[in-house]
Amino acid sequence: MTDRSPFTLVSDRAANLATSPATPLAAPMADIEAAEQMLGLFDTLIGEADQNVLLERFHRWASRCGLADSLGFTAAGDQQELIFGEQRHHRALYQLDIDGKTLGAVTLSRRQRFSEAELTLLERALGGLARAVRLAQQLAHAQVTALHDGLTGLLNRRAMDERLSHELLLAKRHGSALSLMIIDIDHFKDINDQLGHLVGDEVLCRLAESFRGCVRESDLLFRLGGDEFAILLPRTGLSGAADVARKIRETVEHVTVGLSTRAGGVLPRLSIGVADLLPGDDDKALMQRADTHLYHAKAQGRGRVCISV
Ligand code: GH3
Ligand code: MG
Repeated sequence: MTDRSPFTLVSDRAANLATSPATPLAAPMADIEAAEQMLGLFDTLIGEADQNVLLERFHRWASRCGLADSLGFTAAGDQQELIFGEQRHHRALYQLDIDGKTLGAVTLSRRQRFSEAELTLLERALGGLARAVRLAQQLAHAQVTALHDGLTGLLNRRAMDERLSHELLLAKRHGSALSLMIIDIDHFKDINDQLGHLVGDEVLCRLAESFRGCVRESDLLFRLGGDEFAILLPRTGLSGAADVARKIRETVEHVTVGLSTRAGGVLPRLSIGVADLLPGDDDKALMQRADTHLYHAKAQGRGRVCISV
């Protein structure tokens, strides 16, 4: 952390981008009252992980104090402005910078011009907002990396455990179907041995991409570890899951990786086990059944799909 001010005032304080005839200055807030309200604001910002909730709280505080009618926020690198409240003519535009990183730009607007005292108060409060937004972004990033596989970008094993329990609860509550597919690459070790680990990594990434193209947006894709993947298909019974498995096998037939290597390219083959949710199943039972079908696919010669019947 540096002691640098976390914000930069971009607009002209006096003019505040006014486009209408000047309205009288609002009375500055009493110092103690303002300080108390600001401390209350910081209490509600600390530890909140959702950036939009933070912005909305800041807007509520600013409008309660009569400091702004609207708050707009444009995240760094984003064109779209999030707007809370009704936009007015007098505006103050701030760039939120913290630790040398620009988080985005905040626009505060209201009917009356801002006084110097009010702008100073808003600047202090924006310092708190900038820190809270930065923490929220760091937390959101940590949550994403904790649940994703670093190589393929798919959800990881931990995410699978969480989502499987959640989808199972939903399926039971709504009486809807749920299928689980486990996919394992055949003789993946040979691919690594013959073409090298980097080509092996490329195979994993290309397959992950192909799987993505074969499923609906509501389906969940995981890399469970090594060369094993899973697909959770909410509101999908066995015949729907069988269609997806068929589509995956057809698509993968055209995936060739490592043609530039001396050993030539590989066409990875897959074994797939598919199971659907049965009455009385818990997440372990569903997982176990899909795993058993995968085992049968391997035992029957690989390169095939085994499904509960
Ligand atoms: P089977 O047909 O029985 O599935 O044979 P297999 O060779 O695919 O099975 P096995 O589980 O023995 O091999 C999986 C291999 O995956 C072993 C390991 O070296 C490799 N592997 C695991 N994680 C990674 C990874 O991140 N990148 C690469 N390139 N290889 C990995
Ligand atoms: Mg394998």
